[in-house]
Amino acid sequence: MEKLRPEYKRFDELRTNVKDLSEYSHLKEIARRLLGVLDFVSVSNVSNEDINRLIKYVETILPILPQPQCDNSRFLFDAYMIAAFREMLDGISVGLSQMILPTCEEEWSHRIVYLPSFGGAKIPRVDLISFKGEPQLFDVVLLDYPWLYHELGHILLYEYRESFRPTFTRVLDKVVRRLKARSLGDSPVNKRRAEATIDKLERFWGMEDGPGSWAIEIGADVVALWTCGPAFLTAFDKELDNRKPDPYMISVQHPPYEIRSIGLTHAGSRLGWSKYTTPLKDRVKLWKTPSFRKNRTNEYVSYANKEILYGAISSALEMCANLKIPVCDQNKVKAIGNLLQDKATIDFGAELVIAAWLVNQELGRNEYYSWERETIEALSKKLRL
Ligand SMILES: [Zn+2]
Repeated sequence: MEKLRPEYKRFDELRTNVKDLSEYSHLKEIARRLLGVLDFVSVSNVSNEDINRLIKYVETILPILPQPQCDNSRFLFDAYMIAAFREMLDGISVGLSQMILPTCEEEWSHRIVYLPSFGGAKIPRVDLISFKGEPQLFDVVLLDYPWLYHELGHILLYEYRESFRPTFTRVLDKVVRRLKARSLGDSPVNKRRAEATIDKLERFWGMEDGPGSWAIEIGADVVALWTCGPAFLTAFDKELDNRKPDPYMISVQHPPYEIRSIGLTHAGSRLGWSKYTTPLKDRVKLWKTPSFRKNRTNEYVSYANKEILYGAISSALEMCANLKIPVCDQNKVKAIGNLLQDKATIDFGAELVIAAWLVNQELGRNEYYSWERETIEALSKKLRL
């Protein structure tokens, strides 16, 4: 088969597009790595099929990366927030993925993009965190930023999964063993049904590689709660207000909102924030009323296993404690309150997110808006590439 060489138009165009990215400092490293691979294959003995696959893959990656903007202040603001988390972890010798980049999307999310590599090199990984909103500084809503720590929680749980998985898996296995033993005396039909339910339960909660794990989502919620305390409880409640979800909807990617709310209420109490779990508790109560209940099927109840849920929470709390991640406790909130009273500008990081929550909580929405505007303006003066 004739080899595809760089003289081919599509390859050339792609190489030019990638090269153009080098002009943007935040994409320079990615561009360098991509060009390295493209140049390597253009002179190597790589099959036509592989080159075509590579072209297709790089073409898929490019639009996902943070797009170059004329006004990159939002990108920088969000990158500084990520950097503050990394610096905090560096201070306690907890390493984090080397390349975490912010993008702006409709929803908060995290995804991993693997850059292609040839010749057996370690596949370079890029973590992309989508911040909610438009890529403009005025679209920053600090009250939503506790969600950043949920997304960073995903990265932490990925990198330190061995601090989480064994403890959680022990709980899951114990429940599964008990359920299996219980179905032993059932009729063949009922036994098959029970087995199918247990299989699904393991698929939803288990941490095998796949589309998602409810345990990881619960773990990411716990990391956000650990880091931002009541600010995450409020942000989560606000999200429910906006989304008005079916609390019993089952999906592979995310645990149903009822379970997440019960989980946060439980974890919130364990961290001393019971007072701020009331809105979530009230929602769970409301969801038990007839107008919501229709989707609360027996199947749902089997998956919404509290023992497994609490096991995920304990494992995540243990991971945060073992890694010595600074916890947001009453003292921390008090200290931030004092800084606000002294009219100090709070720096990037979880403190900023907690301060925003505190201002909104204590002084009301109007005061909050002017504080947020002034704070972002003061911080934006620090933004440099
Ligand atoms: Zn998540």
